[in-house]
Amino acid sequence: MTDDNNQLIFVEDAVENPASNHEPWRVLVVDDEEDVHGATEIALRGLLIEGRFVKLDHAYSAQEAYQILTREHNITVILLDVVMESDDAGLRLVKRIREELNNQAIRIVMRTGQPGYAPLIETIRAYDINDYRTKSELTRVRLFTSLTVAIRSYRQIRQLEISRYGLELIISASTGLSKIHALRQYAEGIVTQLCSLLDIAPEGLICVASAQQDEPPRIIAAAGRYRELIQCPLEELPDTAPRDVLQRCLQSREHLYHEGICLYFDVGATRGIAAYVDGFHDIDAITRNLLEVFCTNVTVGLENVLLQERLYNTAYHDPLLHLPNRNRLIQLITERGADENMRFALVDLDDFAEINTVLDHRFGDRVLQAVADRLAAAFAPPAVLARIAGDTFGLLGNSEQITRHNIEQVFTAPFDVDGELIRISATASLVRLSREMSEGDAEVLKHASIALKQAKLLNRGRAEWFSVDLSVAARERIRMLTELRAAFSTDRLFLAYQPQVDLLSGKVLGAEALLRWQVDDDHSIPPDQFIPLAEQSGLMVPIGQWVLRTACHQLKHLIELGHSGFRMAINVSHSQFREPDFVTMLARVLDDCQVAAEQVELELTESIVIGHIESTTRKIIEIRRMGLSVAMDDFGTGYSSLNVLQQLDIDRLKIDRAFVKEIDQSGDSTGIADLVIALGHRLNLVTIAEGVENEEQRRHLLQLGCQEGQGYLFGRPLPGAEFEDWMSTQD
Ligand code: C2E
Ligand code: CA
Ligand code: CA
Repeated sequence: MTDDNNQLIFVEDAVENPASNHEPWRVLVVDDEEDVHGATEIALRGLLIEGRFVKLDHAYSAQEAYQILTREHNITVILLDVVMESDDAGLRLVKRIREELNNQAIRIVMRTGQPGYAPLIETIRAYDINDYRTKSELTRVRLFTSLTVAIRSYRQIRQLEISRYGLELIISASTGLSKIHALRQYAEGIVTQLCSLLDIAPEGLICVASAQQDEPPRIIAAAGRYRELIQCPLEELPDTAPRDVLQRCLQSREHLYHEGICLYFDVGATRGIAAYVDGFHDIDAITRNLLEVFCTNVTVGLENVLLQERLYNTAYHDPLLHLPNRNRLIQLITERGADENMRFALVDLDDFAEINTVLDHRFGDRVLQAVADRLAAAFAPPAVLARIAGDTFGLLGNSEQITRHNIEQVFTAPFDVDGELIRISATASLVRLSREMSEGDAEVLKHASIALKQAKLLNRGRAEWFSVDLSVAARERIRMLTELRAAFSTDRLFLAYQPQVDLLSGKVLGAEALLRWQVDDDHSIPPDQFIPLAEQSGLMVPIGQWVLRTACHQLKHLIELGHSGFRMAINVSHSQFREPDFVTMLARVLDDCQVAAEQVELELTESIVIGHIESTTRKIIEIRRMGLSVAMDDFGTGYSSLNVLQQLDIDRLKIDRAFVKEIDQSGDSTGIADLVIALGHRLNLVTIAEGVENEEQRRHLLQLGCQEGQGYLFGRPLPGAEFEDWMSTQD
């Protein structure tokens, strides 16, 4: 390069940047000769390099220079003497700058008086020394050229360093672990990168116009003075200039270069993304080109990040109900599970499969939405509602929120689905998180699922806490229940019939149908043990229906055999009676079996009444209007008051066998049987005593005015065919 050329650059630069309000370049002169400092000062006075003046700092030894460099971080170039305190003081300083201060950007121009002290080529390379000159070579023009080259290279290095940071952000955005903020991180990377490309301080914004037409454009990344504006809708941006430019950019779908720089990224799956940085006016064609290349590259990246976000969403999000899914919930349990106060619940809808198959799937979806809405309202953030599987929801929250009561409350009122009110019941299991966490977070879900299974069998329609102690007893009950289901479906349940007679004449009036479970040839399980279990699990409803139908068929058969006035007494369980369509079902069975309602009696227990006095009274009236008779079973063992008994419109009072048992050989009793009989008289009810085993009891009951009886004295419960045989011996 000739001196003339250098002059030319000098002139050009000065013309392009007639004045500069930028900070001057700081250059450190290190030399032990006072004269060199002065000469350098004069040589550089009034010169503009890359549009900025030069300001000199001075050090007279390597030691002093080192101290200045530890304090000052924006020195761009050092003009460094080689020989000072020692022959190699300059070289030593370079080594310390690079290795100890770890300053790789600062440029170094070495000057020496004597050519013999020139550093080796390897040293120049190893320590990234920009230039090496003898002092005599450094004329004004040469010094200017040397400094210009050094400053340009400093700038490039700084730019690289900054853009490397931007790149790092972009790279970590696309591979980073916390995928939720990936788009934001990536967009932040774009702002930084863009600013470093333009060599301006990072000040800018990025906003995205989502594909959803009704969603306004939103700011997803912001740097510098715009920092606070992340997530703010674009229209609420307080600075009007960037707001207008961004809006116009998204509208016109092209880059705008006049008021600040606004770049448009045509990213699929959005209506466009726009990035704005301020401070620039009318940039040149080369820079525009560079920015366009940048845009093309970044658009590909943005598309990937958005795709990743969508993948994340499908991995952690339930698309039907727009709730976190099972995977996300497990993550949240891991994050929050250590908290002593955390509770988790699984909520599973009862009989949802039926809704889905009987009605259609779309209706099922709306049912789920209705339930999700109500759960979300009842368990507001910080609680988390997730969808675990088809009709199972997960709830994560603190001990005040996640309670049995709060969960059960959600299902008390019917749900409005497309204007139709439907009742939905759900079974829930609750777990204390930290207590179950010892074995890991997936374990929480497992425990809750076990608890849910138990609850489904034993406490349908309710919410229960999971406890380990429950297990042994519960497991035994579950085993029995599973067997009972199997027995029911494979006809190992049957009915036995026990005669009911007139106490005075001994004439058979009818029989009570009693349920039997024959496990194998010589082993049976008494109904007292399995009926409560079936009752709790909801299994008693279909079993009860089967009992009703079977007993009516048997009745029909007995009538056909000539026992025309025969009365069949059938036990009805609490849950069966509570079914809303119980009466309809009853009518259908009577009709199907072709038996007169007058020949059928229902045995109800006091427990049916508790808490439901009004609906029970109404149902009983309906039943009796159909022609059936109703007996109050086990009377005196429950809690119903006289008052209740008076309200109920029934036909018969059944004295429990426990009270009959009290009547001893001598015919004395503690008097409860007496009381019940007297009460029956008062209310005009027929009384029937069960568990009559001997003559004394029969005689005593008769004396008290009890008309009917049932017990081993008259006949044991017998299976259908044997009972028919037994009946044929009576007359
Ligand atoms: P329950 O309705 O009080 O039935 C009378 C019970 O007394 C029957 O017991 C019967 O076998 C027994 N028993 C009859 N005579 C005598 C006697 O002289 N001495 C003694 N010690 N006991 C006698 P079982 O069959 O074991 O039934 C027990 C309970 O199971 C019944 O009590 C009833 O509450 C329930 N149960 C039976 N079958 C059904 C059914 O089909 N549906 C419903 N919901 N419950 C049923
Ligand atoms: Ca009974
Ligand atoms: Ca009884």
